[in-house]
Amino acid sequence: MMQTLLESKTMQAALEYLKEDDARTLKEHLELVAIPAPSNHEELRAKDMLRRFTELGLEDVHMDEVGNVLGTVKGKLGSPVVMLAGHLDTVFPASVDLTPKIIDGIVHAPGITDDTRALAELLTIVRAIKETGITPIGDLVFCANVGEEGLGDLRGVKHIFGKKNNIDAFISIDNPKIGAVVNKGIGSYRYRFNFIARGGHSFSDFGQPSAIHALGIAIAKIAQFKVPQFPKTTYNVGVVEGGTSVNTIAAKASFRLDIRSDSQEELKRFSSLAIEAAQEAVEEENRLRPHEDKAKVIVEQIGDRPSGTQPDDCLIVNIASAAIMAMGLKAEVRPSSSTDANVPISLGIPAITVGCGGRSGGSHTEQEWFDPKDAYKGPQKNLLMVMAMVGMDGVQEAMMPKFKS
Ligand SMILES: [Zn+2]
Repeated sequence: MMQTLLESKTMQAALEYLKEDDARTLKEHLELVAIPAPSNHEELRAKDMLRRFTELGLEDVHMDEVGNVLGTVKGKLGSPVVMLAGHLDTVFPASVDLTPKIIDGIVHAPGITDDTRALAELLTIVRAIKETGITPIGDLVFCANVGEEGLGDLRGVKHIFGKKNNIDAFISIDNPKIGAVVNKGIGSYRYRFNFIARGGHSFSDFGQPSAIHALGIAIAKIAQFKVPQFPKTTYNVGVVEGGTSVNTIAAKASFRLDIRSDSQEELKRFSSLAIEAAQEAVEEENRLRPHEDKAKVIVEQIGDRPSGTQPDDCLIVNIASAAIMAMGLKAEVRPSSSTDANVPISLGIPAITVGCGGRSGGSHTEQEWFDPKDAYKGPQKNLLMVMAMVGMDGVQEAMMPKFKS
């Protein structure tokens, strides 16, 4: 089936088009990377994508309530509905210089691969479909979404899947390996534990409960948690803040905890354990230094990325792998990671994260680089993949069924 689609005249023309469009795609890629888009402040880059989607003649182009940019290539039957996405945001604050520098053919710019490359691939794929007259059977929705990185907390896709929708499959282009297929989402819950006490002078107020002492007892308890190996579950206290001076009993202290797991149950279980540990720590501190002004703890959730798994041989993985192999590339079903696909996976909607073209390194650092040599192979593979899922009029039926919840 994949072979029929690949060898069809229209698909061959589209693949050839993508190769010829490579230089233009790189030009757009460099334009996009220079537009700052820190998580929660993606407006400039979003507006730019909105303009490009409109100019390409996508249908129903719009920016939704949270800033995701969407546009559709309508299919003959309008079903199934497959969404192909790349995220707008980067981990870099607006102050970072984003001007791309090309040295020996390698492009250096923060965010050049993660995930600006995906945005450029969306554009060239739309052009290839329009220019070669491909008619899909189902609808293909292109999405440049906000809020994938840490501080974004997947808010873009959470919004899309949090309301009524008719999406039958979701594919995010967000992996540096061209043959990558990620079908499991590591979830994470993140918390800030805020310890509060009255505080005072270290000598004259000695005996008052201390926010820092209570925090120390809590971390000592959490550090002894035993986690299961399967489903892999981890935790980390990554940031500690608090106190004002060495001779002040601290009135305020806080730490941030990250819990990760493939399993939603384990995320919940370790969250409860950590909250209990913090409450016990405060009680211990109040017992050690009994005083009418008691120490207390306020727990604030600062991150919620749902987790979920799909079998390695489920339909969406098989279609993706078949498309990768049909293009002469090596398919690699990769270990779980935390991406936009987490959200649909957690809801049972078929979803994967796949690779882009080119070679790259230095993700999430200001030294991030991208080698555009043969990068067109990424959009070629991704076009074949989504057309297999959504079907191509007169050539191949949609391989992805309608999702039934
Ligand atoms: Zn990314």
